[in-house]
Amino acid sequence: MTASRRARVAIVTKSTLDDGCTRYAQGGIAVAIGDDDSMQQHFDDTMAAGRGLCDPAAVRVLVEEGPARVSELAGLGMAFDADASGLSLGREAAHSRARIVHSGGDATGSAVETTLLRAVQAAGVRAVEHATVERLLLDAGGRCCGIACSCADGTTVVLRAPAVVLATGGASALWLDTTNPQTATGDGIALAYQAGADVAGLEFEQFHPTALAIPGARRHLISEAVRGEGAIVVDEHGSRFLLDDDPRGELAGRDVVARAIHQRLQRTGNTHVFLDCRPIGDRVARRFPSIFATCEAHGIDLRRDLVPIAPAAHYTIGGVRTDLRGATSLPGLYACGEIASSGVHGANRLASNSLLEALVFGHRAGNASLADTGEMPPSTPAGRAVQHRTTPSAAAHDAALERLRSEMTGHAGVVRDAAGLGTALAVSEAIGDEAEANGDAALHRAASVASLICSSALAREESRGAHFRSDFPEPSAGWHGAIAMQHQRREEGVRNA
Ligand SMILES: Cc1cc2nc3c(=O)[nH]c(=O)nc-3n(C[C@H](O)[C@H](O)[C@H](O)COP(=O)(O)OP(=O)(O)OC[C@H]3O[C@@H](n4cnc5c(N)ncnc54)[C@H](O)[C@@H]3O)c2cc1C
Repeated sequence: MTASRRARVAIVTKSTLDDGCTRYAQGGIAVAIGDDDSMQQHFDDTMAAGRGLCDPAAVRVLVEEGPARVSELAGLGMAFDADASGLSLGREAAHSRARIVHSGGDATGSAVETTLLRAVQAAGVRAVEHATVERLLLDAGGRCCGIACSCADGTTVVLRAPAVVLATGGASALWLDTTNPQTATGDGIALAYQAGADVAGLEFEQFHPTALAIPGARRHLISEAVRGEGAIVVDEHGSRFLLDDDPRGELAGRDVVARAIHQRLQRTGNTHVFLDCRPIGDRVARRFPSIFATCEAHGIDLRRDLVPIAPAAHYTIGGVRTDLRGATSLPGLYACGEIASSGVHGANRLASNSLLEALVFGHRAGNASLADTGEMPPSTPAGRAVQHRTTPSAAAHDAALERLRSEMTGHAGVVRDAAGLGTALAVSEAIGDEAEANGDAALHRAASVASLICSSALAREESRGAHFRSDFPEPSAGWHGAIAMQHQRREEGVRNA
């Protein structure tokens, strides 16, 4: 949106324009606009959740520019839920105040997406659907100057541009149990890494504690806001157990709640525990209409029944390293949204800070790309722009991807250790080699990202936030920094020591 006001912009997506995580977002967008709230309080909560790894300057930008971006959405026609006293504000885990603005009860992501798509269409932005970006093009000086994509009809399209903004989302579909659509395989991370951009923080994958756990069904998210309204987590005997680990119980940070549930399941051998929404009463149907309808479709009435839940991979905290302007370490390449490692989440993302991050840093990346390139024409790619493509067998692709996911689930999940991560790394690398030999670029990207995740998780010999190592269960002052990696050069850098 920001860039389309002053430049010719094309949006390329490997599926349809409304594919991706955004439309699934339920809880809402965190902004400090309540009478009892302040930007400082939002800053403090975000920093505390990040367990010492947030970049304070990035968090400051996030909390200070959030209200303007939310007003902009309202100006574009997005209807936020409101009552007589103003916008209604939800409460979510580890936020010390009610500060989550939402739309349609629990349909905020869909409203954000519809609003923005309407606006970019009205602005005349060119949309290219079913085009998978296979490679970032670099000019002779190493500057990113466009993309090469493969289209559904088998053709390859090259788009040259003075600036490329990656907004390709996260990699949570690399685990079997995930709240994300299957397309969330971290493509952009692999593309940027391959082109030479720094990636960072990939050991931090956030597992959401309360995903619907019904065999064979999608892991629908049961938003944290449901616990914020009073729902409790109970075991097979109907007993609460989260208070054993943390006095905040259901409203402790996501990492704490996910780990407590994971450990309970490991101990009991059960596949799920339960969410009891009955304390919310009949209001639950009005406040969370989408979640209510999803559960109802599975024969669960939130007013009466317990909901089977288990943790699921949910949000990729690390990604392509960006600065405060949304620029990556590679000239001409910018990144925003879930793919970016902007420094706002540290070791643990605070609920509802990610749509906010996408809005705030997406705006900044748009402005930075315009400021840096001005009227610059796109430069000419060096080397071959188009690679020869072979068509891998769909069955072999699916089988190898399933193997990769099951390895990540078994060995790089909520609780990890060196032995398991080493195995997962070896399997990911072998699948990556096979994929390369078979010309399966999509599988090769997924396996590369899995390898990067395992390497980072192996390197961080401590437990912090979303990354828990059973062989190093405590945080360590020696690890007070970000692990950054660049193609051919993996280094342990310190962002904010
Ligand atoms: C169930 C659920 C609930 C959530 N609830 C909340 C919430 O309440 N509040 C909050 O702040 N956050 C929430 N989140 C997180 C938030 O929705 C995401 O972090 C955010 O929407 C990511 O937006 P994005 O634009 O970065 O990526 P996405 O919306 O995932 O979009 C990525 C796009 O990139 C395309 N793409 C990927 N690879 C390629 C390629 N190689 N070539 C071309 N195109 C490609 C995809 O097709 C897709 O269109 C939730 C997430 C989920 C899954």
